[in-house]
Amino acid sequence: MSTKRTRPPYFLQRLNLRLLILSLAMLSVIITLGNSFNATYQVQRDLLISNTLEANRAYSAKLAKDTDNFFAVAQSQLQYSAELIASRMDDETFLQTEATRLHKQNALFDSVFIVNVNANIVAASPSVLNLKGRQLSVPDAIAAFHAKKPVISNPFTSPAGNYLVSISHPIFTPDGHYQGYVAGTIYLQENGILGNLLGQHYYQDGTYVYVVDPSGTLLYHQDPSRIGEKVIISGFLEAVIKQQSGQAELTNSRGIDMLAGYAPIARTGWGVVAQRPKAVTLTKLEEQIQVFSVKTLPLTLITLVFIWISAFLIARPLKELANNARILDQKQAQERIQSIRSWYFESALLKSAILKGMSLLNEKISRLQTDSHTDPMTGLYNRRGMQKVLDYYQNSQQNFAVISLDIDHFKQINDHYGHDVGDQVIKSLAALMRNSSRKDDALCRCGGEEFLIFLPDTELDIAERIAERLRQKVAQYKMTNLFYITISLGVVQCQIDTISPKDALKMADNALYQAKRNGRNQVVKAA
Ligand code: GH3
Ligand code: MG
Ligand code: MG
Repeated sequence: MSTKRTRPPYFLQRLNLRLLILSLAMLSVIITLGNSFNATYQVQRDLLISNTLEANRAYSAKLAKDTDNFFAVAQSQLQYSAELIASRMDDETFLQTEATRLHKQNALFDSVFIVNVNANIVAASPSVLNLKGRQLSVPDAIAAFHAKKPVISNPFTSPAGNYLVSISHPIFTPDGHYQGYVAGTIYLQENGILGNLLGQHYYQDGTYVYVVDPSGTLLYHQDPSRIGEKVIISGFLEAVIKQQSGQAELTNSRGIDMLAGYAPIARTGWGVVAQRPKAVTLTKLEEQIQVFSVKTLPLTLITLVFIWISAFLIARPLKELANNARILDQKQAQERIQSIRSWYFESALLKSAILKGMSLLNEKISRLQTDSHTDPMTGLYNRRGMQKVLDYYQNSQQNFAVISLDIDHFKQINDHYGHDVGDQVIKSLAALMRNSSRKDDALCRCGGEEFLIFLPDTELDIAERIAERLRQKVAQYKMTNLFYITISLGVVQCQIDTISPKDALKMADNALYQAKRNGRNQVVKAA
């Protein structure tokens, strides 16, 4: 069964550690930042909305209280006047003086008039209205006349054309006879008393105020053209006309989302609403978020640069290790891997693992090389090893002496004691040679029972003496505790600048043959 390996898609092939770290870190920065922006926005938004609602509720309550106070003052002024004029209803001059005083003294009323027991207007201010001498005609005014008690009327349009409410107070003589009433009016249109009272706190930030009576009539509105308009009572307006106070998020008649606060004017039964477009409230927040993002930008950029550099530093040792691991067979690879700065734990571990692997590999290779240069039976150099030694002398221009040696009548030993004993003899001879050689000498088994000894920087006479000593040593050594052998040796010196190693070997062989011919068990120097 074979598993088919398909190449990954191109973009995956392009992925590397640095890119992965970078993408991961960037992604987390962007998500974190986005998340904190979003959370900040949501929290601030909710806070702004609830603050605005609360501010509008407090604002409407304040306006309602001011207005209520205003009506209380107006009513007490009228009451005072009513008491003052109760006994002087026949004195038209006095009545006119009092009407004028009431109108002008405190600017509480847009107009003032006094009605006698016959529902005739007997005094009025300002005089331009031409009210004096008229009979009450407006139903609300007539209703107030018949009520015989303090009344704040519904809004109505006066004969002079002013849209207003009237505040009236009955006039009774001290003995309780009804004499008519004294009334002050408040114009609802632009620049009237109510407008001045409610409009003076008008915010510049889109907040506006209106007042609605229980029938849904707008008594005051920032937009004067809407004063007198009847609005549909629904939603939070139901609470407003029920004389409740509170706050609400709503969509106004023009489809604009509003944040409203409302409060009742107890004395009149009206409701004051202060509201502000939600969008205006949130514009500020969007500006704040922009400022916030501009302020966080430098640190964000620094963070991103820091991440980029970190990703580079983290990925670099692994990348270099990976690149060099691809070319382990190249000579400088080990040096290059050695020089990689693996500054954190895993990369250091990987580096040392690769280096260990490499040195194991090198050891194995050098062992293989040694094996191929060594004769397995004796552990001496074989012919290939010998060639290396000669190449070395040649390259380093080193003079050397060489001893060529061969066991005498070895065939007979084989024949007599067997091949295994013959092998043992070869091994014992090799051991004797090794024991009597110096550190720099090179020993070589170049044939079945033929050996070479290379002696670097050694004079011919010394080489001859070494050969003679070896000959004697061998001759005195009892092989396998059974018998003695002898060897024949040829010695030659190789001055590397006058003779080639190859020729030197030939000369050594010739000397060896000469030793054989001379009767064996002896050393012969090459001529
Ligand atoms: P000479 O004195 O002339 O050297 O006589 P010799 O019998 O040693 O003759 P030669 O050197 O020509 O013979 C070498 C013999 O060594 C032939 C072969 O059977 C034997 N021989 C070669 N290699 C080995 C080996 O590895 N083990 C054994 N036991 N014998 C070997
Ligand atoms: Mg031989
Ligand atoms: Mg021999």
